[in-house]
Amino acid sequence: MDTVSRTGIIQPPFMNLKIATGLSQGCDRPANRASLMGETDRRQAPPVAAAEKSQNQTMLGNASPTPYDLRFSLLGIPVRVHPLFWLFSAVMGWDPDDLNYMLLWIVCVFVSILVHEFGHALTARYFGWPPKVVLYSFGGFASFTPTWGYTTTRSILVLLAGPGAGFVLFGVVWCVKQLLIQQRVLPEHPEMLLWDSASPTGLRYTAFVLRQMAFINLWWGLVNLLPVFPLDGGQVARELLTHLRPRDGLDISLKLSLLVGAGVSAYCFMHKDTWPGVLFGVLAFESFQHLQEMRYR
Ligand SMILES: [Zn+2]
Repeated sequence: MDTVSRTGIIQPPFMNLKIATGLSQGCDRPANRASLMGETDRRQAPPVAAAEKSQNQTMLGNASPTPYDLRFSLLGIPVRVHPLFWLFSAVMGWDPDDLNYMLLWIVCVFVSILVHEFGHALTARYFGWPPKVVLYSFGGFASFTPTWGYTTTRSILVLLAGPGAGFVLFGVVWCVKQLLIQQRVLPEHPEMLLWDSASPTGLRYTAFVLRQMAFINLWWGLVNLLPVFPLDGGQVARELLTHLRPRDGLDISLKLSLLVGAGVSAYCFMHKDTWPGVLFGVLAFESFQHLQEMRYR
């Protein structure tokens, strides 16, 4: 029984604050930020503003609205799910032996990315900035336009709230797993069930869901904290550096993003992990492009 897809490492999508991913919170934030700081330094706003202006279109997928989007409201926050989200999640979780694993995987990805984006969105709303959430081919993003009271501290709190919400969900999943083991519903090492076709199907599915939910919410959360733009970590680095060094902070944050992105990409290729290698290569290239735009503007 081929169990690779059931236990294999699946490539992380982007869960960010657009984009990026999302990709900073609201498409016109830098402009606001610049005016908030009373700065008119062109180097500060244009390149990122340009990137954020096209927040629905990046090298890593298109999130523009379609007639096939699933739209709903959760806790008063509008959510839009692009049809490619389902397709890409299905491809990532494809299991020819048992399609139920693919369906369970799609549910795990959907719930985890939604919780992550709602971490961002609810924190933004707490500060008085009405958010929207979009799930698209490469993950999801929350976007909002800061109206007043926008500070670096608040921006970083909104950014960290996404991975933070995922880590809380990881904790909940871990507690549920321990409880089920304690109640002897699951064996000491539930993962072993995935290799045991004689074990009850329901238990195998439960072990699969616990494993994927733990993996997604821990590892994708940690990946998103890498200082690579437009991941959450890349934006935190930009917020901090542009706050500490308004003149060249953006430049330094993009150089850091280029360096770490290229490094992670090289590491992935060395370990024959092609897909994340390509993804981080593309992100490194996007940071390089932003740097070029700033240099020749
Ligand atoms: Zn995020």
